[in-house]
Amino acid sequence: MTDPHPDGQAALAVFDIDGVLADVRHRLHYLQSRPQRWDAFFLAAEQDPLLEEGARRLRTAQERHDVVYLTGRPERNRGLTRAWLAHHGLPTGPLHMRPDDDRRPARWVKRNTLRRLARNSTIASVLDDDPAVVAVLTADGWPVELATWLPHSSTLQSAQEQQGRT
Ligand SMILES: [Mg+2]
Repeated sequence: MTDPHPDGQAALAVFDIDGVLADVRHRLHYLQSRPQRWDAFFLAAEQDPLLEEGARRLRTAQERHDVVYLTGRPERNRGLTRAWLAHHGLPTGPLHMRPDDDRRPARWVKRNTLRRLARNSTIASVLDDDPAVVAVLTADGWPVELATWLPHSSTLQSAQEQQGRT
């Protein structure tokens, strides 16, 4: 097999996790309760079913690019997230997460991280299921695709937009 990256530097294929690879629907009820149960919501991510379409996209992307994850999940869930990825036979990193104390909407956090990654790498593709994220990253000039195989939850949308929590 020939070296797919003869110049030694692959372009990055950037994957969101929740709603792209992980089916979050079973744990949204934690955010619908009042008060919202954020820790329970994140801890239940261990049980997320794999979204086969996202996994298929990732394996295809791996043939030509270096896959990295860009997720709104907080840093404190790094171990859980890596274990979940490994359990489903996916690469466990690089994994770019939200700092634990960063409550900004996901679109701003992700834009910052993407700009930082682009200093040393070409961004080949970005896949995210949040229309607000896709709109901001597209406006910033990145090749973004909206993942549509899991309808983006209005509960999660509210959490991301108004509370900056996922
Ligand atoms: Mg998502």
